[in-house]
Amino acid sequence: MVKIELSEYFSEIYEKGDVPRFKVFIDGKWVSTKNRLDLISPIDGRKSAEISNVSFDDMEKAIQSASSKKDKIRNMAAIDRIELMNTVRKELEKHRDEIVGVLIAESGKAYNSAIGEFNAMLERMRLSMEDSRKILGEYLPGDWSSDTAQKIALVIREPIGVVLGISPFNYPIYTSVAKILPALLAGNSVVIKPPSADPIAFMMCMEIFRKMGVPSGTLQVLTGSGEERGDYLVTNEKINMVSFTGSTVVGKHISSIAGLRKIHLELGGKAAAIVLEDAELELAAKECIKGSLELAGQRCDAISRILVVQKVYDKFVDKLKSHISDYSFGNPLDGKAITLGPVISTKAAKRIDDLVQDAAKKGAKIMCGGKYNDAYYEPTLLIDVPLNADIANEETFGPVITVIKVKDLDEAVRVANNSKYGLDSCVFTEDFYSAWEVMKILQVGNVTLNSAPSHGTAYFPFGGIKDSGQGKEGVGYSIEEMTVMKTVIFNLAPKNLGKKYTGAFKD
Ligand code: NAP
Repeated sequence: MVKIELSEYFSEIYEKGDVPRFKVFIDGKWVSTKNRLDLISPIDGRKSAEISNVSFDDMEKAIQSASSKKDKIRNMAAIDRIELMNTVRKELEKHRDEIVGVLIAESGKAYNSAIGEFNAMLERMRLSMEDSRKILGEYLPGDWSSDTAQKIALVIREPIGVVLGISPFNYPIYTSVAKILPALLAGNSVVIKPPSADPIAFMMCMEIFRKMGVPSGTLQVLTGSGEERGDYLVTNEKINMVSFTGSTVVGKHISSIAGLRKIHLELGGKAAAIVLEDAELELAAKECIKGSLELAGQRCDAISRILVVQKVYDKFVDKLKSHISDYSFGNPLDGKAITLGPVISTKAAKRIDDLVQDAAKKGAKIMCGGKYNDAYYEPTLLIDVPLNADIANEETFGPVITVIKVKDLDEAVRVANNSKYGLDSCVFTEDFYSAWEVMKILQVGNVTLNSAPSHGTAYFPFGGIKDSGQGKEGVGYSIEEMTVMKTVIFNLAPKNLGKKYTGAFKD
């Protein structure tokens, strides 16, 4: 049975019971709530903890506190903000093993995925601290226009106010911290709503933020049902920006109710991998397997359809078959050798199976896998997938390698672009001109040559178009998104310091 047990260091964040009952973090304190949700570990399908389903009163208190105390962070010298984050980062590092252990238990991630997420968070923190030094401005001499000849302007970047961050279950610590860091470094206060499925490792990270001295009130952590609580948070008049990462359905809903406040949406994807006839097939097969199976396919940038030109189709499928066993599937608690664990819930496994069986009914062949037991969905190779199969169009979010045969480059691009999503993609070819042609024409936010897509630490910016979202994530880009520009204009005429426009050379 999965047990979530925390060391004394984290004793403030929960109450003891038959299972630990986690609190919410409001106005600088961990607070118990009456209403709770069960946390079911996908590893054994049993209850391992309870989390708070925060009340409306407590949400109001948190937002009020974030708003009234935002000047604490805004007025903190930028160098102090960086040093605070650096201290937090060092302390997080000391608790790596314990936090990663809890992340595995609550999310079912295999060790390699869990440690990968934790390390990516630390690296993202380091890069964010560096990039926050680039919150600069601009000096505009006014004498380039007759209208402003005696004036000058500075364009400065200021904090936006209170940022609401809402994050998904697949990277609960990374995506949440990737919202908090740019927000705080840019001088904003933050209210964060982590996913209900696996928020505990993230809350442990938040305890470290508290212990290391993040100013009280500038960071609030609210757990609870997004469906029931989301509208209240998003539409609260004190929230100045919503930074959301999650499904397209919820993202569209948020966009419809957010009004004039700024929104940043990182949504679902249906990344296509295009394999052309001159691709290095061994590399392409390995990358496509990695891109499809890593984190059991529960990644927005997962490869969820592979479009292979007919000339190399059979050869490529053979390569896939020989590499599918590169991943070792099982219970993540059995040790580091397991590299592929369950998906987040039995419900998610059932949804994946519906997609696979629908494809099979429509003519696709299941070469291996295609079965599940509770939340454990077997790594699956599905070939000859017809374009009318749901799995050719809907986000899979499961460990399914979906292979579609296409005639040539033109058809590959047509199929790839015929999607409501536009997040990520990749192309495998040794020919520079074909690569350029495809990469220019694909309707996506990111495209990679000869490698599976990978957002990694977001050193390279990413973000989708079409139904995949709006705005760019990435170290410096995220910081920029969380600031607003203000133009400050100086009239120098009264002291005769401006340049005079004479109009002498006008036509
Ligand atoms: P989700 O169901 O949309 O949930 C994401 C977050 O939104 C959770 O915290 C959820 O709370 C909350 N939420 C649910 N309904 C809400 C509402 N009506 N108003 C406000 N918040 C609400 O997504 P998920 O299943 O956790 O994550 C998987 C999805 O995220 C996939 O589609 C994936 O592609 C996408 N994703 C995108 C990126 C990217 O960078 N583009 C990165 C990672 C994931 P509860 O947990 O309480 O339901």
